[in-house]
Amino acid sequence: MRTVYYCDMCGRSFDNYQECLKHEKDDHIKPRSYAEIESFFDSEARYPIYIYLTMTDGAVVEYNITSIIHGREEDPTEKNSPENEAQNMVHN
Ligand SMILES: [Zn+2]
Repeated sequence: MRTVYYCDMCGRSFDNYQECLKHEKDDHIKPRSYAEIESFFDSEARYPIYIYLTMTDGAVVEYNITSIIHGREEDPTEKNSPENEAQNMVHN
């Protein structure tokens, strides 16, 4: 039997627990806070086109938007509004 430990962030496998912990701690620098994100929009952008994150080691890293993975969630109050019901009747 073999026990394998996986890095929570990249999935790399380790036979040694301490090596895995060290890798997670030292090889991946996390944002200091996800709450303190500087975000930048342009006039056409619904979502920030780039954000700055301050990392635990003090570095500030810029991330750019590449795509929207999942569109916004539908508002359930919109779906059942009389206006939408009337539109659905027209299309049916
Ligand atoms: Zn990793």
